[in-house]
Amino acid sequence: MRNILVVEDSPLVLKILEHLFRQEPNLQPVFCASLGEAQVMLETSASLFFAAIVDLNLPDAMDGEIVDLVLGYTLPCIVLTGSYNEQRRDELLLKGVVDYVLKESQHSYEYAFRLLHRLESNSQVKILVAEDSDSTRHFIRRILTSHLYQIIDAVDGDQALQILKEQPDIDLLLVDHSMPGISGFELVKMLRQKMKRTDLIILGLSADTKGSLSALFIKHGADDFLRKPFCPEELNCRVMSTLERRDLMQALKQAALFDSLTNLYNRRAFYEQGTQMCKLAQRGGHDLSVAMLDLDFFKSINDEFGHASGDTALVLFARALVQVFPDALLGRLGGEEFALLSRQDAPALQGALEQLRQVVAGLKYAADAPALNFSAGVYQGAAEDLESLLHQVDTRLYQAKHQGRGRTVSN
Ligand code: GH3
Ligand code: MG
Ligand code: MG
Ligand code: MG
Repeated sequence: MRNILVVEDSPLVLKILEHLFRQEPNLQPVFCASLGEAQVMLETSASLFFAAIVDLNLPDAMDGEIVDLVLGYTLPCIVLTGSYNEQRRDELLLKGVVDYVLKESQHSYEYAFRLLHRLESNSQVKILVAEDSDSTRHFIRRILTSHLYQIIDAVDGDQALQILKEQPDIDLLLVDHSMPGISGFELVKMLRQKMKRTDLIILGLSADTKGSLSALFIKHGADDFLRKPFCPEELNCRVMSTLERRDLMQALKQAALFDSLTNLYNRRAFYEQGTQMCKLAQRGGHDLSVAMLDLDFFKSINDEFGHASGDTALVLFARALVQVFPDALLGRLGGEEFALLSRQDAPALQGALEQLRQVVAGLKYAADAPALNFSAGVYQGAAEDLESLLHQVDTRLYQAKHQGRGRTVSN
């Protein structure tokens, strides 16, 4: 639960905010209607707040004094304002507010909530700023810090390379072109030889006024480019949009590999990973064991207890599989059919399957529902190709079903 300080006197705006907060179970608003009230609240409880949403025009502070108060406590500050002008905007952003939101429509208030959520994830994001100019580096740090990113400085390309080597979890590199030693371009070229866009986002910076420079940066592998001097808002938008793009790419990759219900590998990914495992095993000259598992009478679970209970059973079953086979390659091949590939021999695998049978019998997926059970085939053999291993094990699973279910048939 995150506490959010809301300083606002307009009853109408308060009503909208209250409505939006009701849909956010993890955000708890604390309302103050004046600068005075906010002062008392912060003096006693500043450390309890995650961020603040403040109105620039309060009965006892008509000119944005609330912003200085909130920033004085180093709280991320989102400003609500009835009017917009560029000078005021730059002033506020330079002071270090997260962003400003125009009191226009429901959408602008929703934007404030998107910002709050982003702030929560930003604290996990590491940004490396490689820039030789102290003033630009400080400017960037000041702006990005208000969004709670973790900022790391490098004064030239060599230092940037060293830091990236020591901290491979850095998410984004902001890199100036003209620096002593390795230039920005050179650095991007070197980095892109080993780091993909999903591993490291790169934003180029340069004071050069030639338009071709941005294209060059991007052709060398940068994700985006900023021409100096830039305004705080531009920097924030580019950083935010490249991060969102990276997250989207990762989500797509995740969706392509994993079954969304159980989080196990899907059929395609299981075949891909399994094929790799077979190649390695063949090179090493050792066997692989494969098991195929199918839940018994699963259709009647759906029919009698509903599809949602069926889903719960599948999720719990997958969890039990992970628990009993932490080192095996696990996949959901489809429906209620699962497969695993392991370096354990067949008797060991069969033993672990009996252990799984006990865990699975105790799973509670619906009230008064019968114990879950499954049939399985196990086969150990030379890892020539995955297809033939799966064919062998499928035959054994079929036998287990025919022999009365709830059992394992092995080599
Ligand atoms: P058997 O013992 O012979 O394996 O019988 P069964 O009922 O388990 O097998 P059958 O193939 O007849 O039915 C499988 C059922 O699994 C039918 C299908 O609706 C259900 N199913 C497949 N995918 C899902 C899913 O993602 N969620 C739920 N709840 N049910 C699913
Ligand atoms: Mg420079
Ligand atoms: Mg079945
Ligand atoms: Mg089936």
